Amino acid sequence: SDRHAPVSTPASTGPLRRNRATSHVLHRHTGDVLPVAVGGEGCWLIDAEGRRYLDASGGAAVSCLGHGNRRVRDAIMAQLDKVAFAHTGFFTNEPMERLAEMLVEGAPEGIGRACFVSGGSEAIESALKIARQYAVERGDLARTRVIARRQSYHGNTLGALSATGNTGRRRPFLPWVIDDVVHVSPCYAWRHRAADETDIAYGQRLAAEFEHQLRVLGPETVLAFVAEPVVGATLGAVPAVEGYFKAIRQICDRHGVLLILDEVMCGMGRTGYLYACEADGVAPDMIAMAKGLGAGYQPIGAVLVSDAIADVVLHGRLGLMTGHTYMGHPVACAASLAVQEVIRDDGLVARVRGLDATFERLLRDGLGARPEVGDIRGRGFFRGVELVADRTTKRPFPATAGLAKRIKAAAFDLGLICYPGSGTADGIDGDHILLAPPFIATEDELALAVERLGQAIDRAM
Ligand code: PLP
Repeated sequence: SDRHAPVSTPASTGPLRRNRATSHVLHRHTGDVLPVAVGGEGCWLIDAEGRRYLDASGGAAVSCLGHGNRRVRDAIMAQLDKVAFAHTGFFTNEPMERLAEMLVEGAPEGIGRACFVSGGSEAIESALKIARQYAVERGDLARTRVIARRQSYHGNTLGALSATGNTGRRRPFLPWVIDDVVHVSPCYAWRHRAADETDIAYGQRLAAEFEHQLRVLGPETVLAFVAEPVVGATLGAVPAVEGYFKAIRQICDRHGVLLILDEVMCGMGRTGYLYACEADGVAPDMIAMAKGLGAGYQPIGAVLVSDAIADVVLHGRLGLMTGHTYMGHPVACAASLAVQEVIRDDGLVARVRGLDATFERLLRDGLGARPEVGDIRGRGFFRGVELVADRTTKRPFPATAGLAKRIKAAAFDLGLICYPGSGTADGIDGDHILLAPPFIATEDELALAVERLGQAIDRAM
């Protein structure tokens, strides 16, 4: 019988579709033709034509170990030889337990548990739901509101998008985003600190704004404050000023509000600290992480939870009410465990911290004198370059010019991967380029990234 005869030519035998218009993939990329990624070695990605790209942003701050790490590859293969999947409703698994142990060991004071998910948005969703469950179990039913910051990105799913302050990303979905999220000012000293104000005074002013907002809402109705310690995609590697997060922590404590830090982009060593909040001297109630957690070898995210919250939720009437089929996936956890072991054994956090000043100097020497470069900032291997039409007034380029995206495209042509952010119209203050190279990048590779970025800016202007 011809019952098993193919009804059409198998797709795998035809030419690979890479054109956005004809591909069966619903691509999100805006270019017409996408190169096909076929290989990766260290800080470099290689396409089907043999072109090499210096991955100076690790995609979107993901590939912190670079590409092709053998130890991670071996850990994945070894786990596959044992078991690929065992649902967490029935089993625990060894890599998940060990990974949780390792993360908690290095975490800020009070953090005692890890809940594993598949990415950053799920981590934020889980943190918000755990916060709500904590309030419900304590009989604190009125606590529903979340305070986040404008110019933040917390993810794409509807809960995480509700916390997100970036208006451009929210607008099409506004009818669905949760009303119970209120946004306050981000900590963005270079642009918003007054001329006669110190960093410390600016941080205290923002903390006072936060507390004022709490009082307006009624502190007993507020569940949590959510913020990125170093703002990634929407501002371009902007850390808070000294004292800001300490003041926020005190205000949260005063009013029974939970502090949730989003370290999806800035965490896991990227800033030269394993947890970015170490630099701010605060211990949050929960930390969301992803990206560098699995370094791109597998999709994985996590929310770290304080013992105080975990105890209430676990011993409550409902048990943990957030969960996904793939949470704690053994292969993802094995990959992530190997990534974190490499980071520990190779001393990569210390390496990033040690090269902090070198990377900053390379950026300042290479780009600092350009008239269109307004600010160079960040920590460790998490750096932002903000572009302005006028350095004195800090006037941004018009959003319609799409400068950051044009720089990204020019850089890509030059064999450099960097991550753009832009748009004055949507509450973002201007164009910036984010660099987040793998922790293994050599000084020569850092220098080459800066050189190519300079050339890309020239081409895009
Ligand atoms: N939070 C921050 C700070 C992020 O940068 C991102 C992604 O860029 C997310 C959350 C969402 O993570 P994911 O894209 O893995 O869902």
